[in-house]
Amino acid sequence: MLGMYVHVPFCGKICDYCDFSAISVPERYYLEYLDLVSEEIRTFAERCPGAFEKVDTLYVGGGTPSVLSPEQLSRLFGMFQSVGVPLKKLRETTVEFNPESCDVERVSAVREHGATRVSLGIQTFDGNLLDRIGRSHRAGTGEAALDMLLHLPGLRVSADLMFNLPGQTVEGFLQDIEKLVAFGPGHISFYGLKVDPETRLGHRIARGDDSVDEDLYAPMYRSGVELLERHGFTRYETSNFARAGEESLHNLNYWRRGEYLAFGPGAHGFWGGVRFHAPEKYAPWRNYVKSGCLKEFLYLDPVGPEEELAEIIQLSFRTKEGLDLADLHKCGKTIPDAVVSQWEKKGFLTQNNGRLALSGDGWLFMDRVVEDLYCNCIPYSNLE
Ligand code: SF4
Repeated sequence: MLGMYVHVPFCGKICDYCDFSAISVPERYYLEYLDLVSEEIRTFAERCPGAFEKVDTLYVGGGTPSVLSPEQLSRLFGMFQSVGVPLKKLRETTVEFNPESCDVERVSAVREHGATRVSLGIQTFDGNLLDRIGRSHRAGTGEAALDMLLHLPGLRVSADLMFNLPGQTVEGFLQDIEKLVAFGPGHISFYGLKVDPETRLGHRIARGDDSVDEDLYAPMYRSGVELLERHGFTRYETSNFARAGEESLHNLNYWRRGEYLAFGPGAHGFWGGVRFHAPEKYAPWRNYVKSGCLKEFLYLDPVGPEEELAEIIQLSFRTKEGLDLADLHKCGKTIPDAVVSQWEKKGFLTQNNGRLALSGDGWLFMDRVVEDLYCNCIPYSNLE
């Protein structure tokens, strides 16, 4: 399967915890961006004729793609069409929206070009928490956006929540989930806040003006998972929950190490066995595009056998299917039974039909389990 990711780097306002590649700039930059990303995509189309015809899923993310006006979104999608992306035949097209810019006009603009799915950044319904983390939408705006989206026939809706926010309680987080589920989206993601010391929130915490109770991380994650499962959602990836058939095909392709093209500042792609990304900051990315998208300015990371092994283990364990041992054997490696059974005894790992998958608190300690399994891999031929 081939995915295509397009990064729109702009946000109306930078959230206090944001450590992503996002900038807040005057709107005139949006037009320049549209010219540049068109140039980047057209250059790729010329160099790899026929590549876009093979795209299966499209994801327009950010930043906040919905800062673009309906006309600008139409222009972006029109350009995808012009280079051969079969917009009306794709298996899935997702666009990220933020509540404050989620309106019928923008959603209609992308749906007219074949968008099938919207991912909405709610984060929390609690107005005090929204203020405390510096989100630009107010209490009530998220509800209004969800209400509008979920009344549009045939549109798949995903919504993001955050947990372990400063001042958030376990009960408060569970109320957010209950409220969100009641609107009826088919897909919900939730992410624990990781505080980057270089962000505004990180600085406040360093000064002692704010705090996050790290002890609440595990109880919030556990009880959030339990609540969503009670409501009929399946955890198909560590932070992603879906009703049957509502899983994100585009993101599943990442975790299954499928190929994906990527455009826009800092967008990461995987193509022909090479992981790559263009310059992350807007100005160097602009120079990269204006100088003809020369390969020398791309960050290229060919995936060798050792990296392939690490990726297979890391990415597989993020999903509920877990690791297919046959994939490991193809790399000439396996994991000794003693290592597996040590995690099984703790209840962190289960083994079924040749697959190892996380279970119980294994999801919370994923990094530790994965590192141990990876470090203890032995040559497969040793067992033959
Ligand atoms: S909306 Fe997302 S990308 Fe934009 S500033 Fe907030 S956290 Fe960063």
